[in-house]
Amino acid sequence: MKIICIGRNYADHVKELSNQMPSEPVVFLKPDSAILPKGNAFFIPEFSNNLQYEVEIVIRINRLGKHIEEKFAHRYYDQFTLGIDFTARDLQSELKAKGLPWEKAKAFDGSAFLGPWQKVSDYDLQHLNFGLVRNGDTVQAGNSADMLYSIDKLIAEVSKYFSLKIGDLLFTGTPAGVGALQTNDLLSLQLEGRKLAELRVK
Ligand code: ZN
Repeated sequence: MKIICIGRNYADHVKELSNQMPSEPVVFLKPDSAILPKGNAFFIPEFSNNLQYEVEIVIRINRLGKHIEEKFAHRYYDQFTLGIDFTARDLQSELKAKGLPWEKAKAFDGSAFLGPWQKVSDYDLQHLNFGLVRNGDTVQAGNSADMLYSIDKLIAEVSKYFSLKIGDLLFTGTPAGVGALQTNDLLSLQLEGRKLAELRVK
């Protein structure tokens, strides 16, 4: 099982990090060991002084596929959830400056939090409101309609390079409002105005 992640998929987030608008999706991977086990708190790793949250819509692949056409991409998933792509921003900035891969900043143990799975058919995935509340304050609020590359486009694009297998996950990028975590923060992932999952930071 692999976790495919998309960077820079919301214009407002690209601007807040002073990144360039991508001319194609920015893609990176996390290993399966990145998944935070259910019920665990998130521990800020000792190698970062700027550990940031990124709330994202996560798609679960349910069929084997390769070179998937965008118009058929919807057949390859029927479940989604919200997740957090935890990022050691200080380390990522150092690596980016040196032109090195991001994995140490993005793919460490516990860096992928997942909420409970939802049926795609119960929601309008093209216009999905989601966000993150930190200690009672809304810090991120996004809508999937604002993605630069839609879910189906992303599946078409990534499957040019990687065969998609049952159980693979696709993190689809984060909207604006990312920020640093503090010990004891309580994170609440919001889907259509309701709490989907909660996570304590240690
Ligand atoms: Zn992300």
